[in-house]
Amino acid sequence: MKDCLFCKIINGEIESEFLYEDDEIVAFNDINPTAPVHILIIPKDHIASADDINEENAHLIGKIFIVAKKLAKEMGLKDGYRIVNNCKGDGGQTVDHIHFHLIGGRQMLWPAG
Ligand code: 5GP
Ligand code: ZN
Repeated sequence: MKDCLFCKIINGEIESEFLYEDDEIVAFNDINPTAPVHILIIPKDHIASADDINEENAHLIGKIFIVAKKLAKEMGLKDGYRIVNNCKGDGGQTVDHIHFHLIGGRQMLWPAG
């Protein structure tokens, strides 16, 4: 999608180092990390939010969780980690291309703000 920040990262228009890439998924470091490990995992297809998951694209979400698990292992997050999806305005979503935050390397608090 033309004016989507994450689509620009996927197509190389904005330079970024991928920690993971396959034909459907990419992962890269968050520009503003909230923990020692803070990775964004996204589908290459432009899906705007979790509210746009459907029967056709739902397999990508399972794949993203498998990628999260692999990356968590690579990053040494043996004591656990958090996977977060912010959905639309009230959910705190600021980039309208669905993404999952893989966050770890410190104790997380709950409930989140
Ligand atoms: P959201 O608030 O939508 O759940 O998360 C968007 C995330 O994208 C934020 O954590 C923010 O730091 C990250 N972000 C915003 N712009 C960029 C960018 O240009 N590059 C990278 N790597 N991350 C970004
Ligand atoms: Zn996009």
